[in-house]
Amino acid sequence: MSMQRSRSEALYAEALQHIVGGVNSPSRSYKAVGGGAPVFMKRAEGAYFYDVDDNRYIDYLAAYGPIITGHAHPHITEAIVRAAQNGILYGTPTELEIQMARMLKEAIPSLDKVRFVNSGTEAVMTTIRVARAFTKRNKIIKFAGCYHGHSDLVLVAAGSGPSTLGIPDSAGIPTSIAQEVITVPFNNLPALQEALERWGDDTAAVMIEPIVGNFGMVMPEPGFLEGVCKLTREAGALVIYDEVITAFRFHYGTSQTFNVFPDFKAIEPDLTALGKIIGGGLPIGAYGGRKEIMEQVAPLGPAYQAGTMAGNPASISAGIACLEVLQEAGVYDRMNDLATTLAEGLRASAAKHGVPLTINQIRGSFSTHFCNHPVTNYDEAQDTDGEIFGRFFKLMLEQGINLAPSKYEAWFLTTAHTKDDIEVTIAAADHAFSRL
Ligand code: PMP
Repeated sequence: MSMQRSRSEALYAEALQHIVGGVNSPSRSYKAVGGGAPVFMKRAEGAYFYDVDDNRYIDYLAAYGPIITGHAHPHITEAIVRAAQNGILYGTPTELEIQMARMLKEAIPSLDKVRFVNSGTEAVMTTIRVARAFTKRNKIIKFAGCYHGHSDLVLVAAGSGPSTLGIPDSAGIPTSIAQEVITVPFNNLPALQEALERWGDDTAAVMIEPIVGNFGMVMPEPGFLEGVCKLTREAGALVIYDEVITAFRFHYGTSQTFNVFPDFKAIEPDLTALGKIIGGGLPIGAYGGRKEIMEQVAPLGPAYQAGTMAGNPASISAGIACLEVLQEAGVYDRMNDLATTLAEGLRASAAKHGVPLTINQIRGSFSTHFCNHPVTNYDEAQDTDGEIFGRFFKLMLEQGINLAPSKYEAWFLTTAHTKDDIEVTIAAADHAFSRL
């Protein structure tokens, strides 16, 4: 019996007439999974979504990461209601901002000073400006397949060689801007070394997702992050960690304090960009780092950055409440255990049905790659079967399991998922694999 989604289909047809592509972020469309109307959700609670046709789904999208405590968590909801009752936006400083800054600094010792903004994109964009102001250099080095939001400099792809000046990844970005960006492969120190030998004197910063969340979940190989930080600093450039996904995802902290895996050595960057989880589901971003670098920012220094909505009481209150939930004992171990059970179940079922599947699990999240090889960089992530992923995605959706509609996105466990949810999901996957 097939799931009835006529209301989603009707709403999608209507949305297409008013909203470009029918969606307010391209990743929400089903273009990468063979097309069709995306499901329109009406309500969400805990680990579940309810769509406009009254179907229920177990959710592993978690809104692309922020919803780590599950949907409509009562502690976060209460904090938002209280903030709304106290006035939604002041345009003045508040004590809440200090409390939140303190919480971030306690969890992330590399932050001497922070600034709140409204999105991960803004946070990353501003770290680049600050790094350029501090070093008085222009070029940025980034890694292929890492996503850092949609500002001009980070929407630049690699050219054809192992270390080449960038080409714009989007229309509307001048080549002159793209030429300020060099893209090198992840987990490849010689390529970074080559780029720094060539452009190091002009390089303001090396930007990296220290643990990758955007071409699947990918760990840096042993020694890679150490090498990145060492080579970057030898060139007189700054290390910027984009921890928009990773902050508070695997443990209460960031990759800079992550000591769960024996061969992963935590290292502090000069600047950090944050977002997603730290807003508890409301719009937020933040950046911070060493005092003398952050003092480049207005009103102290010459690098300008501002925001009408920045540090608004609702986002900050939701963020504080979310971090409070995450401070409860055992929450991360529980998510890890559930993710491990789920990943093992998926692996066993895929093997039973002869479906080639690589799973990269990092604590309470993992990515599924339809291929026979490991995925350690963007080339390997691209070299996987998107057509099979698309069919898998739709077979799961039909059975009430909501995944991100892209072969590159992660499955996120939340504090709301239960053992039962995991069992139901493994059974659904078993059925899906049998029909691939
Ligand atoms: N950096 C990373 C690592 C991200 O994953 C994202 C969003 N997926 C961003 C930056 C941009 O954040 P936002 O969508 O909040 O602008």
